[in-house]
Amino acid sequence: MAKQKKSLTFQIMIAMGVGTLIGILINLLFKESVIIQGFFVDGVFHIVGSIFVAALKMMVVPLVFVSLVGGVTALGDISSLGRISLKSLALYLTTTAVAITLALGLAAVVGPGQGFEAGAETFTFQAKEAPPLGQVLVEMVPANPFRAMSEGKMLQVIVFALLFGIAVTLSGKKGQHVLNFFNDLNVVIGHMVDIIMKLAPVGVFALIARTFATEGLDIILPLAGYFLVVASALLIHAAFSYGLLLRLVGGLNPLLFFYKMRSVQLFAFSTASSNATIPVNLKNVEERLGANNSIASFTIPLGATINMDGTAIMQGVATVFIANVYGIDLGVSEFLTVILTATLASIGTAGVPGVGLVMLAMVLGQVGLPVEGIALIIGVDRLLDMMRTAVNVTGDAAVTCIVAKSEKALHIETFNDRRALYRLEPESNSQ
Ligand code: ASP
Repeated sequence: MAKQKKSLTFQIMIAMGVGTLIGILINLLFKESVIIQGFFVDGVFHIVGSIFVAALKMMVVPLVFVSLVGGVTALGDISSLGRISLKSLALYLTTTAVAITLALGLAAVVGPGQGFEAGAETFTFQAKEAPPLGQVLVEMVPANPFRAMSEGKMLQVIVFALLFGIAVTLSGKKGQHVLNFFNDLNVVIGHMVDIIMKLAPVGVFALIARTFATEGLDIILPLAGYFLVVASALLIHAAFSYGLLLRLVGGLNPLLFFYKMRSVQLFAFSTASSNATIPVNLKNVEERLGANNSIASFTIPLGATINMDGTAIMQGVATVFIANVYGIDLGVSEFLTVILTATLASIGTAGVPGVGLVMLAMVLGQVGLPVEGIALIIGVDRLLDMMRTAVNVTGDAAVTCIVAKSEKALHIETFNDRRALYRLEPESNSQ
């Protein structure tokens, strides 16, 4: 079983490596080849990659709804639900604020964008509006739960599932029948996710190969300073902020945590979507890190929607970069505004590819920087999106472990077991 366990992560890693190599080769040698571009990059790679992401997304709403109903019911009382919500919300917002502060600090010291040559006026960017906080609050309650599900509005699905789960608990014996059904359904959906995981190496290969074939590496060069500062801040935040949080607040071994997060991070990296990674992250925190479903079924989907530390880091560095390019000085009050806006903006925007740029438009607007500046960094955004999504989902899992531990809902033997059963591996599901 341990051998099988290794093989999925291993296969995905190989797929990523080969995908990167082939993608870069295509970008370097076959940029003009109609056959390669048409048949492979925009054909096979695009189709296979899209099918894989669609298959993952297909599982998100059913999985979140069914497992959250089961999770809330398992909690038993409403007061623990309130406590867990408060704890996770506080941790999510605090880590995001730390992330953006770190990013602003690092960017202020390194100063990316100073002496940047490209004329900003040659770029254009049409900003979409991020929703204001008041609207986010009102829209948390779905007027039509089926529409919420069909449109994948995660906060609305979470609210409906919470209420449903509470009502199941309050319904006594009758509720028990419903709960049994949901618990059985949860197992069935778990198997569906397992089946999709079989596609992972092929899907990841296609996604990565296409990204590198279209983006290439040369695009990074003119923006190397910006790219490196974002990448370093992401690394520092993931290693130190989460590491310290896990160790000091959770009393947990960060190295084991990171070791077990590898495949989730690879999924997040390949799909650039926290939302699409929910099924994998949920399974991983429950089955490999030992968090109880009653906590994880709530904190993981919530985190995918409201917790975006990696995205906040990009916004911090991008703000300083754009200010430098336009020669605008940012003072302490602007820095504080950036921290506040970026933290709050993350609540209302879902974890899907590219959403970070929408949030950035809001942040820039708040501090009076030209929103067109986004056009400067858009070239490297896809690659950074992949990296920051990996950090986003790592944050969701770290907070889940800490909240679970504080609620005595973390199976510590599983957490500490390096080889804890990995049911992402389809074959290992046959118990
Ligand atoms: N792609 C990111 C996520 O899904 C959001 C972003 O930064 O654009 O978490």
